[in-house]
Amino acid sequence: MIKLHDKNFKPFVSAKEIDAALQRMVDEIAKDVGDEIPVFVGVLNGSFMVVSDFVKKYPNPCEVTFIKLASYEGVKSSEDIQRLIGLTQDLTGRTVIILEDIIDTGKTLFEIHRIFKNEKVKALKIATLFYKPEAYKKDFKLHYIGIEIPNKFIVGYGLDYDGLGRDLPEVYQIKQTQHMTNLVLFGPPGAGKGTQAEFLKEKYNLVHISTGDVFRYNMKNDTALGMLAKSFIEKGQLVPDQVTIDMLNAEVEKNADAKGFIFDGFPRTNAQAEALDKLMDSKDSQINAMIALEVDDEVLVKRLLERGKTSGRKDDADETVIRNRIKVYYDETAILKDYYAAQNKYFGVDGIGGIEEITERLSAVINKL
Ligand code: AMP
Repeated sequence: MIKLHDKNFKPFVSAKEIDAALQRMVDEIAKDVGDEIPVFVGVLNGSFMVVSDFVKKYPNPCEVTFIKLASYEGVKSSEDIQRLIGLTQDLTGRTVIILEDIIDTGKTLFEIHRIFKNEKVKALKIATLFYKPEAYKKDFKLHYIGIEIPNKFIVGYGLDYDGLGRDLPEVYQIKQTQHMTNLVLFGPPGAGKGTQAEFLKEKYNLVHISTGDVFRYNMKNDTALGMLAKSFIEKGQLVPDQVTIDMLNAEVEKNADAKGFIFDGFPRTNAQAEALDKLMDSKDSQINAMIALEVDDEVLVKRLLERGKTSGRKDDADETVIRNRIKVYYDETAILKDYYAAQNKYFGVDGIGGIEEITERLSAVINKL
């Protein structure tokens, strides 16, 4: 990890990966350009490393020049206006390849196209080492792309954070500093996870995600996801991992500013637990604890049949389906106790008693984290 000004950055793309991506771009471009002598145009300041390494690898004769993006305040509005300067040479009839370090929103690209509109070039091609598809707002074609990256701030290899970091030979990604508390609320169906999550989310200001609730919402609204999940849910079986994982990722992404999450009904398999670790890691965070509500089977069946009378949940109305859900829990889900116990993150809590009493037991665990 490195620190630039007030922010921390973690290693993201190694010098070796950059080199390999550049080589791929060189090979592709050299093949397309053939015998012609192209003019490579770097966009300063960020592209100096890309251009330097790129042209050293380029196998044929080529020309190199730079343009620079200059910012100044608009006359009539306070909007930041950007103009490209430095294009002095005659490019009539030439094949011009713009070499960019990164394309995010595409604002610079807009300027490049505006300027080159009046140049009578033979072809204008855009090549960029990094590309952020989630941030890109324009529809200019990008002809050559080195590495696609998520929409997070990066430094190094020409890219700076407030002046620093351009000299680094590899690329770093910003590390979020916000501290999150992420809990997995665990236990067999009917253990009271949903009820307790409602209290805990208020008390600790967390976002509650119940995969069962999200599935039911989708089923009620006849979405594609709902229809897919329905057949599994009505039999008391698990919805396939990839479907569930994609859905959970999307729910977490919807709450980018959350102080933390209570995961209720997720993970239920090893693959889901691993996917959750990966997701938390991408947020520079982690699961702090799995808190399990322990309740005897016969109490569960009784509770669920009781709930089925008023909840309208089909999977609570039929004792066979209920027993199957409990069986699935022990066959497929209970193994996750070991997964979290191995990381010293498993905490069992007695789930029999009054609602408030159980909230107290859970809080006692959370307060010690
Ligand atoms: P729940 O409300 O947590 O009891 O979930 C109801 C049903 O939704 C389950 O019986 C599964 O069919 C499905 N479901 C909920 N969460 C998951 C998950 N993490 N993985 C697979 N299926 C799930």
